[in-house]
Amino acid sequence: MSADEWCFDAYALETATNGESTRVGTHDDTCPCQCVLCFASLHNQILMRGLLVFSSARAGHPLSTLAYWLLHRADLIQWAGMDSDKLVRFLQHVEGSYSTGNPYHNSRHAADVLQSLHVIMTRGGLMPGYVDQTTMLAAYLAAIVHDYEHRGRNNDFLINTHDDLAVRYNDRSPMENHHLAAAFALLKQSEHNCLGGLSKSAWSKIRALIIDLVLATE
Ligand SMILES: [Zn+2]
Repeated sequence: MSADEWCFDAYALETATNGESTRVGTHDDTCPCQCVLCFASLHNQILMRGLLVFSSARAGHPLSTLAYWLLHRADLIQWAGMDSDKLVRFLQHVEGSYSTGNPYHNSRHAADVLQSLHVIMTRGGLMPGYVDQTTMLAAYLAAIVHDYEHRGRNNDFLINTHDDLAVRYNDRSPMENHHLAAAFALLKQSEHNCLGGLSKSAWSKIRALIIDLVLATE
């Protein structure tokens, strides 16, 4: 099972990236097949680098592991001049803010969307031509944050109950506006500002694309 295939199993990835399985994993670190054990191995390497300190050994970390891998493999970390420590902290924080108590809008779902979008971009006839590095980075980031801090309620519920988010965003896509605003606020914090190396114009393009993509998920 490869992350480049439609049939990728986000549930298996979640299991492969929990603390227990990574400790007992014996998979060859150099295996290029991108199966779930490869990701468990990658997750283990990230753990060993001391960059990730996960709050629960039992919860899997499919989103941060897959996201780091895809950004790394597409050379986007280098292309965007990302600080990898800040990137890992950002991914860790985003994943931790997807509630494990949310039966659908959790980090497994975000990983699933990220992987599906990856396959569409890389195998859907969009490259080369339609997807350049700017678009790819924006699309990956949009998928990563597209349900960030989801409360498990839809917009109709938020609007009809006069939830604070509906009031703040004037009943216009309150949940999606929150995913975006909260994610960009996180990116402004110096310890999470992994995109600080981008030029002003590149950042403006990427920010605009992320906003369009996430608002389109309503
Ligand atoms: Zn979603």
